[in-house]
Amino acid sequence: MALLVQKFGGTSVGSIERIEAVAERVIKARQQGHQIVVVVSAMAGDTNRLLGLARQIDEVPTQRELDVLLSAGEQVTIALLAMALNKRGFNAISLIADQVAIRTDNAFNNANIIQVETEKLETLLGEGNIVVVAGFQGRDSENNITTLGRGGSDTTAVAIAGALKADECQIFTDVDGVYSTDPRVVADARRLPSIHFDDMTSMARHGAKVLQLQSVEYANHHKVPLRVLSSFEDGEGTLVNFEPSNTEGAVGVAIKSQQVLTTVAQPLVAVQERLKLFGLAAWCYAGIDDSTYIVTASDDLARLKLALDKVEVAQEHVTTLSVIGVEQADVVEKIAATLAESSLAIYQQQWSARCLSLLIDGQDQQLAVSIIHKQFVVEPESLDNRRLLAVS
Ligand code: ADP
Ligand code: ASP
Ligand code: MG
Repeated sequence: MALLVQKFGGTSVGSIERIEAVAERVIKARQQGHQIVVVVSAMAGDTNRLLGLARQIDEVPTQRELDVLLSAGEQVTIALLAMALNKRGFNAISLIADQVAIRTDNAFNNANIIQVETEKLETLLGEGNIVVVAGFQGRDSENNITTLGRGGSDTTAVAIAGALKADECQIFTDVDGVYSTDPRVVADARRLPSIHFDDMTSMARHGAKVLQLQSVEYANHHKVPLRVLSSFEDGEGTLVNFEPSNTEGAVGVAIKSQQVLTTVAQPLVAVQERLKLFGLAAWCYAGIDDSTYIVTASDDLARLKLALDKVEVAQEHVTTLSVIGVEQADVVEKIAATLAESSLAIYQQQWSARCLSLLIDGQDQQLAVSIIHKQFVVEPESLDNRRLLAVS
């Protein structure tokens, strides 16, 4: 008998039909004799719908109240899934994060889990229940509701698995594992049977949203066995582990889309200080005549405007492509030359720990990622057979 934490994301619980299918999948594992904690996200689109309601009232809503609102989506799915399990004759009980006691800091909208109490979970499991926990939520030391950032249910699952010393944390999603790049963007993306924690961290940090970055970091730090699987079909998925990623070329290419490039007539240092004050994460670099370029998520645009004090700004949609595992200095020239053949330009580049990030025009995303993926993942001989780890 194993103790499993199984997490199901938004698409996997996106309709009553899907919730019933999740119930069947959980029951299958239960019937194999395993103890199960299930973590669920809100139904697909629900968190965005709630965010949209908030923004109709205020473009930059009060952060505390936003968490009260956004956490509601997960309360719906835990109840529906527990009902579906009960109807099938299995004892299941739903818990919001506060009932488990998932404690976080008070960084509203982007809180970090500090501790997960195990007492209640262990009691309920010991009584033979399937325990269904709301992902994405926490509570701070003053009993405020917090949320863990977009995609945060992954982190809830990993933190629960770590606290309970589960045998495996299984992240069920709408693709059948971690791929060398987003399989919805590049048709010949390859599923990776396993991936090293460092490479997965890099993939997640640079936009591969199949796992939330914090969940990978937490699993790495607490040695939580972590696997990504499809909720739609059976398979081995991708195991995240400490074995070197088994690829000849780059491990993968990560895509960070829905970003905006803002140009502002203020010096770099001043801009960086303002963004820090507003807690805004951005890639900033100097332009000409003391101007600064700022790359942010489109979702952060309203807050960026607030931070920049309504200064006139010029904006453009951009994408960051990151090749994971590259070491050679000449890789940039190779990529630039190949992209130039298709009249694609690189706006800016950045290196960090065996990862090359390239800023490009958002409209070039599809073509550029296909070219780079082909050159460095599918046909890595263009790298002089020197080892690259991944492009994410
Ligand atoms: P969930 O709702 O289950 O949490 P997400 O939408 O957060 O699912 O993550 C799954 C999505 O991640 C996939 O549909 C896929 O488009 C995207 N994705 C991006 N990069 C990758 C990658 N390298 N491998 C697999 N999926 C990826
Ligand atoms: N429902 C939240 C979101 O849409 C959390 C999650 O899905 O993991 O970001
Ligand atoms: Mg997700």
